[in-house]
This record gives sequence, C-alpha cells and structure tokens, in this order.
Amino acid sequence: MSTKPLDRLLFAQGGDCFFCRQPLPREQASIEHLVATTHGGKDNDENLVACCQALNTLFGRMSLKEKLAVILRQKGAFQCPARLAPATASAAPPPAPQPAAPACAATPLQAVLAGLRKRGNARPRTLDALAALVADLLEQNGFAAREAKDVLARLRGQHYIEVQDRRITAYLLPPRQG
Ligand SMILES: [Zn+2]
Repeated sequence: MSTKPLDRLLFAQGGDCFFCRQPLPREQASIEHLVATTHGGKDNDENLVACCQALNTLFGRMSLKEKLAVILRQKGAFQCPARLAPATASAAPPPAPQPAAPACAATPLQAVLAGLRKRGNARPRTLDALAALVADLLEQNGFAAREAKDVLARLRGQHYIEVQDRRITAYLLPPRQG
C-alpha cells in the first residue's frame, strides 16, 4: 500500500470524499487540513482528510468553526460544490441550496405539516406566530426547535405557505402521505 498521504487517506475513507461520501477519483481529490495550517493545524493524518477539490477550495483558510458552519448549513446529506470548479478559483460560489426532496421518512417538515393540518383554520396568520408554532411542533415531535428556521424556509420554498409582508395569506398544504 502506498504511503503517500492522499492515497493513504483515500484508502482509509474507502475511496470516498470525507465530507460528501461520494466516490472520489484520485485526480479529483485533494488533502484538506481540518484545522488549517495557518490556524496551527498539524500536518498529520489526525488533521488531514481527502475531499473533493472544490470543497477544499471553498474552505480555503476558514477556521474549523466556519467550516462546520458551512457543513451544518447544508441540512442533511452534505454535497460538495461542483467538483469541476478549478482548484485555483478565488471565489468559489457557495454550495447551491439543495432542492428539498419529499422525504418518505418522518422529517421535521412532515411533523410540522401534520401539525398544521390538524389545526384546520386555526393556523397562524403571521410568520412570527407560525415560527413559534413550528418550534413547538418540532419539540413535541422530538426534533430540535432550532430547526424551525429551516422548516419555515422549506414551507416557503415549496410554496406550502403564501406570505405577504410577513403575513401568511394562504396555506397550501400537500395531501397527507401514507
Ligand atoms: Zn465531496
């Protein structure tokens, strides 16, 4: 087995990108320092991962905290930015928001939709009131209330609610699944 760091890391990761876990051809792989060397990160395997070049470029000299923020913002299955982005690109675009796929498992969004259906006409008429209700519904269903912002974004993004000036003018809830 080769002892080159990239080969070693790829082998340890089963040939997949550390972050998006997609098969990662060696020519598209690069070594990412989790803690950047400019932040005192070490040059050993404990601090190194093999990942898609585009993500490595995006991370640049971010602190570990900033990198985690990027990852957590993706909400769910993490996807690296387009792999074809040249490694020298100075301004890598932020990862495109993933279209919210209709999930078949119980998700925070589904829990909220179910709660909203139950309320019939007693649904909140303002975004602020809805945000509070969404947080409540999430907690009641075992999800973290901090997911409320994401769920609200999905409600709007998938046009389950119509909003004007922070007032909710219509609910267009999808039919119950299953
Ligand atoms: Zn990746």
